[in-house]
This record gives sequence, C-alpha cells and structure tokens, in this order.
Amino acid sequence: MSHVFPRHTKSDLPVIASGEGCYLFDKSGKKYLDGSGGAAVSCLGHGDPEIAAAISAQLEKVAFAHTGFFTSEPAEMLADLLAENGPADIDRVFFVSGGSEAVEAAIKLARQYFIETGEPQRHRLIARRQSYHGNTLGALAAGGNEWRRRPFAPIMIETSHIAPCYEYRNRREGETAFEYGQRAAGELEDEILRLGPETVMAFIAEPVVGATAGAVPAVEGYFRRIREICDTYGVLMILDEVMCGMGRTGTLFACEQEDVAPDIVTIAKGLGAGYQPVGAMLCTAKLYEAIENGSGFFQHGHTYIGHPVACAASLAVLRAMLDRDLIARVQEKGDRLSDALHTAFGQHPHVGDIRGRGLFRGIELVEDRATKAPFSPDRNINKRVKAAAFKAGLICYPMGGTIDGARGDHVLLAPPFIIEDNQIDELVTKLDSALEAV
Ligand code: PMP
Repeated sequence: MSHVFPRHTKSDLPVIASGEGCYLFDKSGKKYLDGSGGAAVSCLGHGDPEIAAAISAQLEKVAFAHTGFFTSEPAEMLADLLAENGPADIDRVFFVSGGSEAVEAAIKLARQYFIETGEPQRHRLIARRQSYHGNTLGALAAGGNEWRRRPFAPIMIETSHIAPCYEYRNRREGETAFEYGQRAAGELEDEILRLGPETVMAFIAEPVVGATAGAVPAVEGYFRRIREICDTYGVLMILDEVMCGMGRTGTLFACEQEDVAPDIVTIAKGLGAGYQPVGAMLCTAKLYEAIENGSGFFQHGHTYIGHPVACAASLAVLRAMLDRDLIARVQEKGDRLSDALHTAFGQHPHVGDIRGRGLFRGIELVEDRATKAPFSPDRNINKRVKAAAFKAGLICYPMGGTIDGARGDHVLLAPPFIIEDNQIDELVTKLDSALEAV
C-alpha cells in the first residue's frame, strides 16, 4: 500500500525510473515521449548532464543559507542574467519555489506598492475568465477556471474577471482580428471604470494562455491596448509567463512578441526546467524603489526563497538556453510542429482550431467543426485522450478548460526544445492514434 497522497485518489500510476532527452521510462521499462514537458516544464529534456553538474557543484559548496542572512552567487548571477535579457525596465528578481508562489508575490507586491506610494485604497485585481494562475488562494482567485475556483470561492479574495482574447470563439463576423483585440481589451477599461479606477491595483493575464485553453495567443495589438488602459488609470500590468515564458514561445519572454513592457512578470516551470522547483517574480525599478524609499521591506517571503541550489540549476538552464541557441531552435522546431499538426489535423472533423507559438501549441477538440460546438463534458474527451496517448507512450496535456463560460476540450503540446524532427513526427502520429482511439 502507498502512503503517498496522490491528487487522483483512485489512480494507479506507474513509477518513474529514468529520463533521457525527450523520453521518460517507467519501472516496467515502458518508454514515453514527453510531448508536453510534463506541464510545459522540461524545456531541456531529461538527464541533462550540465544541469546535474551545476546542481551537484552547488550542493558541494552549500545547499542552503537563509535569505534573512545571506544572498548567494547563483541568485545574484541568475538575477543579473534575467534582468539583462528580460523585458524593458525589468530590474529586480524575487526568487520563489514555483509558479503559484510567483503569482502570490506579484499580487502582494502590487498591493504593497500602492501602500508605499500613498494610494492604499487600491486593492482590486482584474483578471481574465480564461486563465490559470496557480492553486494557492491568491493565485486561484486570480485564475478564471470556474471548476477550480468554485469550492474555494468563499475563502478567496475578491477578483473581477473580464473576457479573454480568444479569437477562435469570440471574434465576430465582419470584424478584423485587430478590431476584435481592441474590443476585447476595451473590457478592461469598462471594468476599471465600473469598479472605480482609484480602487484598482492590477490587471493580470497570461500572454499566451496555457492550461485553461491550450496555447491561445492574443491578437495583434491587444496587449498594447491593455498597456495603454493600465497606464491611463494607473493600474499595474502583471504578465504571468509561468507557462509561456523562458523561451517556450520562441522568445525568452512571451511578451517580447507583444511589444509591451509589463510592471511585473512571473516565471517558473522552464526556469528550472524541472531540475529544481523554482519560480521568480520580476519587477521594474519603479516598483522596487517605491519599497526601497518607503518601508524598505517587502512584506512577503518563504523559507526557501532564493534557494542556492534552485538558483544554480536555473542559472545553468538559462545559460544552456543562451549558449546552445535553443530559442532560435524553438522557433524552427515550433514551425515544424505547427506544420505537422496542420497536415495531420487540418481537416480533422473534431479539431476546431490549431494554434500557439514556438514549441507551445494547442489543438481544440470540438464535436462539430462547422458550428464549433464543444463536446459534452460528460464524455470526458480530454481525460480519454490523455489516457489513450499515455497508453501509446505519449505524454501530452489534454484539459477541459472553461472557454469563456462554456467548456471545451483541448490538447496542449510543449515538448523539450531539443526535440528532433523524427520525434515531432512520432509525437503527431501518436496523438493521431490517441484521437482515433477515442
Ligand atoms: N501560472 C500559470 C500560467 C501556470 O500555467 C501555472 C501552472 N500550470 C501556474 C501559474 C502555477 O504554477 P505552479 O503549479 O508551479 O504553482
């Protein structure tokens, strides 16, 4: 009998034994192609010796020293490299242990910024209905997935949700993509005005929506308009790049492709590439200085912030990404994956949309391609696709997201950046066979 508390109490999971490159092996010897990097985590693949060496070198020096007493070389060097390669104006990095913690830090920094700068009445957070920001209470409140939120709603902070930018379902006939994006962004302004601009603290969104929707980028101009609206009303813009950041979409930060500079960005997953549990909240000098010139203390933290081993692993991951030119490779292999998905599923009767950027791609499964009608939730399509793919030796990330109120099934693909062409073909062939089986 197992004493581990699994999320699905009735599940009977295989035991992982080893990993090499794009593959994982369980104890029975079965081989799995990691087509989603778990949940968009394993961007360097498995068993990278350079990362293992960096971790063990740090372990030999010192595993842990509390940030109440010390900073560390890996944390300092990693923060320098992130600030140097990050979005314009991003200047400071607060290291945590994962994505939810990064989002909590972002929300609390936004709140404290307004206290420090004499606007304590600003406390409201606006997010989007199609979003996932984590499972801790603040991050869960920000997220828009109704199924995840509902049981905990009575104990969550109040958050407003506007419509996502979701061209496949929400662009009206006769409207250009640009016009649609401006209309969708306009909802933020309406909501700020409804709440009272002087009470609104921040807006949070994923530049490319991951878990709830399957790699949905916004249309051209949407985020620029969001930035303008935030600036008009003095609202902070938080971009959650926990899933889509760290090279995943073909640029180190996904927001580079939107031509906007956020006030706060969150990253995790690809930051440690699965070699260590790590995340970070990055902010502008303006926000940091408000605290520095005010109380001088960010009223937040955890025991393991800035963990030296986690930072050493992440530093090695980021250096590998830059030195091995992996981000250019994401663009090239991402195009290859997109072409392969269009060839295999472009005419598929149950694939409504194929989308994404870089090695962050999604397909949306529908009952009827013409009407875009989703499958009924009780058919459990996404769970069945996941099981069929797993049986066939493919790890992909199917979910039944909340699609702006309605429910829909999608499959998210986020393979390691080192994926080869023949492995892309294997991924698509296995996914095809899983869809057929379902
Ligand atoms: N934000 C986004 C965009 C995510 O995709 C996730 C995880 N799927 C999180 C936050 C939460 O990260 P974690 O699971 O590491 O807490």
